[in-house]
Amino acid sequence: MGTNKKPGKWRKRTQAVRGGQVRSAFQETCEPLIFTAGYAYEDAEEAAARFKGESPGYQYSRIANPTVSMFEERMALLEGAPVARATATGMAAVSAVFLAGLKTGDHVVSANALFGSCRYVLETVLPRFGIGCTFVEGSDLGAWKAAMRPQTRLLFMETPSNPTLAIVDIAAVAKIADANGARLVVDNAFATPALQRPMEFGAHIVVHSSTKFIDGQGRALGGVILCRQDFLDENLNLFLRNTGPALSPFNAWLHLKSLETLELRMKQHSENALAVADFLAGQKKVTRVLYPFRADHPQHNLAKSQMDGGGGVVTFEVEGGNRAAFKLLNALKLIDISSNLGDAKSLATHPETTTHQKLTPEARAAAGVTNGLLRLSVGLEDTDDLCEDLEQALKVA
Ligand SMILES: *Cc1c(COP(=O)(O)O)cnc(C)c1O
Repeated sequence: MGTNKKPGKWRKRTQAVRGGQVRSAFQETCEPLIFTAGYAYEDAEEAAARFKGESPGYQYSRIANPTVSMFEERMALLEGAPVARATATGMAAVSAVFLAGLKTGDHVVSANALFGSCRYVLETVLPRFGIGCTFVEGSDLGAWKAAMRPQTRLLFMETPSNPTLAIVDIAAVAKIADANGARLVVDNAFATPALQRPMEFGAHIVVHSSTKFIDGQGRALGGVILCRQDFLDENLNLFLRNTGPALSPFNAWLHLKSLETLELRMKQHSENALAVADFLAGQKKVTRVLYPFRADHPQHNLAKSQMDGGGGVVTFEVEGGNRAAFKLLNALKLIDISSNLGDAKSLATHPETTTHQKLTPEARAAAGVTNGLLRLSVGLEDTDDLCEDLEQALKVA
């Protein structure tokens, strides 16, 4: 590989465009997509030295790949994290942190408001290995403290959470983790580093589904784990190498290139989402609107103190429960019904019967998922068109 410019001196927006770039001998201006499983060595001695860790360079793309490394490096620069590792999906990132970071007898404390699959890993997978998890109301700092045990190793939260956009005080929970010698893991998929950098507030580990706003165009799955060197060396590195949740170089390339426009897109997503949230709040059949940067959000001030924008997701409740929610979705002419989010195209879903269907009714209630609740991932279309679509669909509902 060829030259790498000096990234240390650049500001975030420059890092988003150039951070981590390594040019091949061809001096291409666009980051190269190195699509290979293996790498050839000059001689047998060189191969032996690489496996011993005495010579830098690549061995096999399950372990590392130049395009994937560029994506990891750029993500670390944007999050302000010492190191990053990319994974095949967001759930591979979440699972790897828990399975690599915990052992039998350990304990986890997690906020209640979680994405369905995250909840499954904590509630169903971890107990099989003798790892317990206590769920708490994320905004209740006393509950976090009370749930801590000597065996508590990891604390987990999504902020904003999926789908109710609950905000958790990252700095306060990080302090609770520190006081117990535990690590705080923050799922930053909804905000992205363009709007929130949890490590600035003391989080020890950040995880992402880069499938969402980082890709930004609904094309490819991916995940990222960001952490400090000690967690990488002691827990993550050998786990990832040997269990193999590696990200495809192609997907890494897409997500790497997407980072160049992340800040611009997140600004526009936030602006559009706020406009749509304000519109929905004025509609008769809408009983509740949740958006972190609206003054009526229960944790509005906290959201403003740790986020640079409200993000692209608006959650709202329609009068008439399940039936009305389905009618509204079926009447949409522009917005698609899809359980994905973070796309340039606006997407709407009914969490109770899709993303959160597998949860017990109790867990759904704890996560705030009611039967009239709809999650709207606001895209980059003209908000007048989005509001007109919602207006005509609300008439049908
Ligand atoms: C989508 C999502 C995940 C899972 O990511 P995948 O890439 O779909 O595996 C995890 N956490 C949150 C908050 C998500 O929205």
